[in-house]
Amino acid sequence: MHNTILQIAIDTPLDTTFDYRYLASTENVEQPQIGQFVRVPFGKREVAGLIVGVNKTSDVDPEKIREVIEVRHQITALSSHWMQLCEFAAEYYQRPFGEVALPAVPKALREGKVASIERALKKISGPTKSKNEEANEKTKTADTANTSETAHLATHTLNEQQQHAVDSIAATTDYACHLLFGITGSGKTQVYLQAAKALLEKTNASGQRAQILILVPEINLTPQLENQVCASFPRLNVVSMHSQLSEGERLRNWLAAHEGRADIVLGTRLAVLSSLPHLKLIIVDEEHDASYKQQEGLRYSARDLAIWRARQLAIPVVLGSATPSIESWQHAETGRYKRLALTQRAAAQATVPRVGLIDMERDKAVEGLCPSLLAALRERLARGEQSLLFLNRRGYAPVMHCDACGWISNCRRCTAFMVLHKPERRLRCHHCSLELRVPQSCPTCGNVDIQPLGRGTQRVEEHLHTLFPEARILRIDADSTRRKGSAQEAFDSVHRGDVDILLGTQMVAKGHDFQRLTLVGVINPDTALFSQDYRASERLFAQLMQVAGRAGRAASDVGSVSEVLVQTRYPQHPLYRALMNQDYTGFAASVLEERHSAGLPPFVFQALLRAEAKTLDKALEFLTTAKTLLAHEGIVINDPVPMTITRVAGVERAQLLLESSSRAVLQAFLKPWMQALRESKSRLRWSLEVDPVDI
Ligand SMILES: [Zn+2]
Ligand SMILES: [Zn+2]
Repeated sequence: MHNTILQIAIDTPLDTTFDYRYLASTENVEQPQIGQFVRVPFGKREVAGLIVGVNKTSDVDPEKIREVIEVRHQITALSSHWMQLCEFAAEYYQRPFGEVALPAVPKALREGKVASIERALKKISGPTKSKNEEANEKTKTADTANTSETAHLATHTLNEQQQHAVDSIAATTDYACHLLFGITGSGKTQVYLQAAKALLEKTNASGQRAQILILVPEINLTPQLENQVCASFPRLNVVSMHSQLSEGERLRNWLAAHEGRADIVLGTRLAVLSSLPHLKLIIVDEEHDASYKQQEGLRYSARDLAIWRARQLAIPVVLGSATPSIESWQHAETGRYKRLALTQRAAAQATVPRVGLIDMERDKAVEGLCPSLLAALRERLARGEQSLLFLNRRGYAPVMHCDACGWISNCRRCTAFMVLHKPERRLRCHHCSLELRVPQSCPTCGNVDIQPLGRGTQRVEEHLHTLFPEARILRIDADSTRRKGSAQEAFDSVHRGDVDILLGTQMVAKGHDFQRLTLVGVINPDTALFSQDYRASERLFAQLMQVAGRAGRAASDVGSVSEVLVQTRYPQHPLYRALMNQDYTGFAASVLEERHSAGLPPFVFQALLRAEAKTLDKALEFLTTAKTLLAHEGIVINDPVPMTITRVAGVERAQLLLESSSRAVLQAFLKPWMQALRESKSRLRWSLEVDPVDI
């Protein structure tokens, strides 16, 4: 019997590891290793821990060192690469390692649920069938003569630009970040798949194994891409990873990746932290998308971690977008990223849609819809083509008010209006989820004639029904798709051609190719032009380009030219001019110039400290103290200010912005600063975000 000291990370806000004693007996033939899970006593509880160090001695008083209850040997230990990834994320985003590493692993594994793990392992190993194999058997499409993947992809002929992109990625033998800048419909997915194929063949030929990680911004997009990937690689094991998987599915897929059985892992942002021992290529689709940023807990950017991971492993990473983030574009401009441009639509017959602006000052809207947009809708209905109306505001009306006394439907718990949801006859706060019945009369003066102000998707839907009683109209937004699977059903019905007019929020802007869609109308995008958030115009441009891309995928198939019509009061605005010319490059150049002169990212690096309290004064006071806690040479700490939506659910919120022209200087300051803040033992809730996206 001899003594081993294990250093254990635990999921706790305490930024430290804990020493435990491990007694090796004759029964314990397997020695504990770094990267294995353990069960340990922690205070009065027993918790899961992860071994991060194996030592002979400890600095802790031997009397105080407790004993490990159990070391879990069911799975291969997590690799040092994976541990380093979590370590980097913890350091960079200023969180304890245990809070990063433990939640990144399925619960059953951490907690050593032996039966579930064994069940899952049995399913992924041995002669059981992958989803792909099952699908092949069902449809009898498996071409048994094929021993390589090649034949399944050969049907898609790449154009010159696509081929060049594939060759560049596949030729990479070290870390390189490729920015695949391709207009909507230019066939980025084909580039991903062909590059993946080339890389798999190259690696297999050299006798090595390969895994590929593909990140997508939205769960709704995973089934579509999963089908494409499975069809292209019928012999490979493709698994998905996103938050809507059941515990069992997540465990099975996670283990398949960890044990090297999954060849391709397709997932949303959380998949970036999966264990992939043979990772050889990472693809980040729609890299500009805001959903790659986790907004609570560990506030990480999955895209940025993907790039770090690629560099660590000396492998290529591909960032794809029609409207890259300004940061990525800047890196391509300076040569840090390698730009690969796709400027043509992949399907030869598909044309780029024409973008037109409707001047709302001249073409007066009725119920939010201008006559020229209605005329365009009518034409499509007459021709049996589909139209999409985009309005990024759900509910019936954003606010109700009383003309007689000026009452307005404020949320009593938030600095926000309560939104009218007419079909449900409810006022709802979109920030704290408070719900009230719609009042019969003004709560202040009793006036029975209270009115909705402004419009959301429900109101436009109602109006469309009166205008086009014969048309099949479908609304897709967070309200209409609450039930699990209902979003997929809705999109399927559009694909089947069961819908004439599709109306929706940003949910409809992403990824879906509707074959018979020849008109996209954009209602009321102007508010974003005057937002306090300096990223609002970048986001609006990306969103409008994306929604515009839904049109014209196969317009000439249905015999017409596809069109995008944007209703605006500011038709001269440079953003709309750039949109009309579909000129991302020009738009990005002007944004970079503005950011440079204003001293904003990517020319400076930021961190944001947020505080929450019962009163605004308390929150501001905490931030004022934080500001003066440590000397901060090379860093500008602005004055604390209330957040734009100051109160949410009765809690007042304020923030403190830190800026530096050097990322290293900022990082060097944050660690001791966080330590000092933790030691201040303030009872306020506070959090830090590095590289914040919403300021
Ligand atoms: Zn009133
Ligand atoms: Zn509220």
